[in-house]
Amino acid sequence: MADTVPQWETLGFDYIKTDKRYISVWENGSWDDGILTEDNLLHISEASTALHYGQQCFEGLKAYRGKDGKIRLFRADLNAQRMQLSCHRVLMPEVSEEKFIDACKQVVLANEKWVPPYGTGATLYLRPFVIGVGDNIGVKPAPKYIFSVFCVPVGPYFKGGLTPVNFSVTDMDRAAPHGTGQAKVGGNYAASMLPHKEAGDQGYADCIYLDPTTHTNIEEVGAANFFGITADNEFITPKSPSILASITKRSLMDLAEKKLGMTVIERDVPITGLDAFTEAGACGTAAVITPIGGIEYKGRLHVFYSESETGPVTRKLYDTLSGIQFGDVEGPDGWVTIVE
Ligand SMILES: *Cc1c(COP(=O)(O)O)cnc(C)c1O
Repeated sequence: MADTVPQWETLGFDYIKTDKRYISVWENGSWDDGILTEDNLLHISEASTALHYGQQCFEGLKAYRGKDGKIRLFRADLNAQRMQLSCHRVLMPEVSEEKFIDACKQVVLANEKWVPPYGTGATLYLRPFVIGVGDNIGVKPAPKYIFSVFCVPVGPYFKGGLTPVNFSVTDMDRAAPHGTGQAKVGGNYAASMLPHKEAGDQGYADCIYLDPTTHTNIEEVGAANFFGITADNEFITPKSPSILASITKRSLMDLAEKKLGMTVIERDVPITGLDAFTEAGACGTAAVITPIGGIEYKGRLHVFYSESETGPVTRKLYDTLSGIQFGDVEGPDGWVTIVE
């Protein structure tokens, strides 16, 4: 364990061992109460289903330190609900919303000194996960499960503000039409590593996935959701059953409509229809919003921003959302929970 807290300003998105993690075990039909441990290792059976058959899922959310010194969680109830959906999809026991939120709060409080100060842009990233463990060799659900939450302080995704980056379109799929795309399960991310590397090798920040049925519509931007802004003040985002429903996106849809007076539309977004948008971005917890500078498709780069300046609507969405998360802006009821 590192004894001293890091330089908040230079934090990236890297693992650091913090003081305590939460761990709970499911066996014989129920979860135990869970405990906090200093140990950051797991001692599990070599025959665990999580290792061989990908029976596992995870979540990602952040704790934000406000100007008032208080620590806030953003819509953790939605992370809890999504983890239930993921568990259901890969036949693992669900964790109740109450247990999930309680575990997150315990981890934040036990690692208070790792919650970055207000104004550094840094936050405490929480990683809840459920894995199938125990002795099992056939393809069937595990006899035992672990639900754990650990935390890592992470830096602002944008070192120099909101800088637009370029993406390429991959021919590979991260999910199947009726597969596990809407669940946050590890297999989807294993499937994304090769196309991600190929995009990176060609100088792109990440790759864009098209819908696995027709390969004509935008589905995801790496591990983030896509949105486009039109000149008619519309916020447009893909609709598809194989997208991982981003809580950030859902929040932006609400804010676009209620705070920015935009028209919000979920529809197919053809990769050949990018001219419809004046601005585009990728959104998710880690990045908040990444403005999309350009998209390479079949050898041609469609450019949204020729300079490094982010569009005004994207910036307004970013300021509103992060304002709510850090407690500077009043958000809709129930979006923010103070950890105490
Ligand atoms: C986690 C994730 C997102 C972002 O979801 P948030 O709830 O906004 O953090 C988007 N796409 C994929 C594939 C993801 O795994």
